Parts: sequence; C-alpha cells; structure tokens
Amino acid sequence: MNAISAKLQAALPGIKKWIDQTLQDHINVATPVSESPFTRLKDHYPDVLLARARVVVVPRVPFPPVTQLGLPEFRAMEMMSLAGVTYKDTFFVCNGQQRDSLYFHELVHVVQWDRLGVDNFLLAYAVGLMQHGYEQSPLEQMAFELQARFDQQRVPENLVEFINVRTDGVWETARRFLESG
Ligand SMILES: [Zn+2]
Repeated sequence: MNAISAKLQAALPGIKKWIDQTLQDHINVATPVSESPFTRLKDHYPDVLLARARVVVVPRVPFPPVTQLGLPEFRAMEMMSLAGVTYKDTFFVCNGQQRDSLYFHELVHVVQWDRLGVDNFLLAYAVGLMQHGYEQSPLEQMAFELQARFDQQRVPENLVEFINVRTDGVWETARRFLESG
C-alpha cells in the first residue's frame, strides 16, 4: 500500500459516517426519482432503479468536510457549489437546478455506487480526483459524457450494463494505483 492509499483508507470511516448521517438527516424529505416529472429517465433506467433512487432538493448540496477529515487536498471540492451530488442511491440537487439532464447525470453515479460499493466508490472517486481534477476524474467524466449523450438523444442501449462495464475499468485503474508504490 502506498502513502496515498494509506491516507485515503484512514479517512474512509469518517467520510462514511458523515454520509450516513447526512442521508439520515434528510430521510424524511427524500423522494423516489420515479415520482419526479422527468419521464425521459424511464426510457433509459429500469423502473426498479428509479423507484429505489431518492432525490433531495436543497439550498446547497452537502459535501463532506474533507479538510477536517484529513484530506485537505480536496479542499477545492468542498468550496465548489455543485448543482448535484450523489451518495449511495440518494442524490441532492440544488434548488432551482431540477431538470432531467441533471437527474440523468446523478443516476449514472447511483449505478456507479451500486456497482462499486461504498468503499471502492469513494476510493476510486478520490484517486480520480487526485489524478485528473473534478471534471476529468473518470467517474465524473463518464457521467458528463453520458449526460451530453442524453441531451443529444444518443444514450447507449443497455445503459446500466454500459455504466457497469466502464465502472469496472475505472476501478481497475484505481486499484492498480492504490496497490502501486
Ligand atoms: Zn457528477
């Protein structure tokens, strides 16, 4: 394990605790995505996924206090005002930004979380962020690319499978990085 890997592993419990607390704090205001007015989502995501995924509309999307949790390198993320963010099967969207394109993007992340599980999603996301910055980090890049295809009505068929395969590739790269050195 290299030093970065050790540092990320050490920060994981605090981040996971923060995520669980944040989800718990919003459990009463989280609504199923299947109840949203955005019917185009049904063309691409399975009904069971849309019924399980939750959305929370907030004035400002919550982000873990990464500096406080031992990862000051991600301070820039903490300061960004994101339109949306996904934790497990729940995504938060900034009030006023509700639109199908953003929901589609966040649902890409829901599928990624499902595929990787909590620890591996967080590790892969952190490695990508360190190596490429926010928009080019592979899990974001995938979501932005697919969102653009949604906007252009060019979403791949078997979307979930497409995301799963790509996500496996992202994890493989992150895993190799974490085991190197
Ligand atoms: Zn994203």
